[in-house]
Amino acid sequence: MNKIKLYNTMTRSVEDFRPIRDNQVKLYVCGPTVYNFAHVGNLRAYLFDDLLRRVLKFAGYEVQEGMNITDVGHLVGDGDEGEDKLELGAKRENTDPLTIARKYEDRFFQDMEKLNIERPEEVVRATDAIEEQLEIIKILEEKGFTYSDEFAIYFDTSKLSDYGKLTGQKLEDKKVGVREEVVVDQNKKNPQDFVLWFFLAGRYKDHILQWPSPWGKGFPGWHIECSAISRKILGQSFDIHAGGVDHIGTHHTNEIAQSEAAFETPLANYWMHNEFLNIDSTKMSKSLGNVYTLTEIEEKGFDPIDFRYFVMSGHYRSKLNFTWQALEGARSTLRKIRALKGKSSNVENRTNVIDIVKDMLYNDLDTPKALARLHEANDFELWKYFEPVFAFDIERDDLISDEVKELVKKREEARSVKNWQLADELRGKIEKMGYQVEDAQDGVKIVRQ
Ligand code: AMP
Ligand code: ZN
Repeated sequence: MNKIKLYNTMTRSVEDFRPIRDNQVKLYVCGPTVYNFAHVGNLRAYLFDDLLRRVLKFAGYEVQEGMNITDVGHLVGDGDEGEDKLELGAKRENTDPLTIARKYEDRFFQDMEKLNIERPEEVVRATDAIEEQLEIIKILEEKGFTYSDEFAIYFDTSKLSDYGKLTGQKLEDKKVGVREEVVVDQNKKNPQDFVLWFFLAGRYKDHILQWPSPWGKGFPGWHIECSAISRKILGQSFDIHAGGVDHIGTHHTNEIAQSEAAFETPLANYWMHNEFLNIDSTKMSKSLGNVYTLTEIEEKGFDPIDFRYFVMSGHYRSKLNFTWQALEGARSTLRKIRALKGKSSNVENRTNVIDIVKDMLYNDLDTPKALARLHEANDFELWKYFEPVFAFDIERDDLISDEVKELVKKREEARSVKNWQLADELRGKIEKMGYQVEDAQDGVKIVRQ
């Protein structure tokens, strides 16, 4: 086993990674809320998680990973306000929440596959773990961590001395933060208290997804599913909990509060968070409407792996700014790597480069440095050696695809009947896919841009 160092949000430092069991890593990542297409910002979170599990495996660990699918209970506001996102999706598409959930869960896994993201060993839907969620709420009630009213059962954060430890903020600071950003539910004793179970009352009186509970019919709050599902798959404690930085303040803080109050042992030993994918220095997010999906990227002629390369070119703890130009850069770099196949290189000592690159990856997943060193070596065998980590499909034949050949043929046909407009449209399509058409005297040449 190779030594790995990882940044732990809990301690705010890079630490030597020591799993609970010798060579096995138990990892949990918060899954998607399946009410719409994932945007490429969301996909950055799963690319980071995939990098983490691939590096751990490369270093010799066996990885057991769990993930939830949020198909109920995630409200529009993380602070227990607004409509359930799944019901919102159902209204948008004039159908029911579970149809929406299954549709976008499928789409999510299609995106994952296109991006060479490995599927976690176990995936559990929130709606398939209602019993487990109720179990934890019962324990919390017995231990005196809950209170309720006609609308909900709440977690009483004032009963915990270390609530909010993941953010490193003092409770007083956190209270101010929360007050500013959400409409505080008047029925909560403390502004940072959160809902464990919603009753069918108030704005949720007609909530479609509902289950019986010892306290009355209702549906779970968003955070409890991850406490229940991670415990079901991995037990408590497990090694690493991953997710995006936006989860630190509320969702992960609340997962920790309820799990640790119930079971009196750390939920996870290492907390790892990816930074945002931005657009024009602003977080890409559905609520801001500045999102792109993987399909949109493909429609512009890019391959999903171009996006994978682009994400790996930044460190997971740095913000990354999405631009089409950057994606073009990623595409042409990938083509250069693939074109190295069969070419000799002048690397004198491969083992030496391998050790250096490994050190970079094992030092908190420093992919920008590792990629720079591999580019410097410019050696196909080295790229191949690290393919289990990067999964750039480097063996793929990047020569002109059948799809492009077909478009070129159609353009030739259009030109032969002097349909210049169609010929130009087809040229535009070919260019979008990253190729240039050059009309020479001896025929048409296709050149990669
Ligand atoms: P959601 O489907 O909203 O539950 O989010 C899925 C994952 O995407 C979570 O880990 C979020 O933290 C993460 N995420 C959301 N927006 C971004 C973004 N712009 N950049 C990186 N990660 C994000
Ligand atoms: Zn979660």
